[in-house]
Amino acid sequence: MATDPKLCPKCSPAPEGGLEPLQVDETEVDRCAGCGGIWFDKGELGPLLNHDTGKIRVLLGGSDPEALDQKTGACPIDQKRMIRVTSARNRHVVIETCPTCQGIWLDGGEFERIKRAQPNWRLGDLV
Ligand SMILES: [Zn+2]
Ligand SMILES: [Zn+2]
Repeated sequence: MATDPKLCPKCSPAPEGGLEPLQVDETEVDRCAGCGGIWFDKGELGPLLNHDTGKIRVLLGGSDPEALDQKTGACPIDQKRMIRVTSARNRHVVIETCPTCQGIWLDGGEFERIKRAQPNWRLGDLV
């Protein structure tokens, strides 16, 4: 039984064949060849953000065109409209999450922006 391709929530029309599987260390995420956005199933994003930069290099980079950032798409899994939320790590980054399956969509470049916002400095560094 063939599974339906997961379609990009941001590109219209979405690239044929849907999102492309992308192996990152031991996790498989899905990336859109059109816009560079990445889909994380529930629970996949958190652990990846804590990985060494070397292992997740493939997720870094990319750009986040304003027009796509403003757009709210449908979940690639269940087609429910996703909701926009502000990243807890970087309040300048708006991410999308599905209220049904709780997967997360990051536009191109957003993973890096959230990753870099990790508070890894000590308070003493500020003074
Ligand atoms: Zn796309
Ligand atoms: Zn969903």
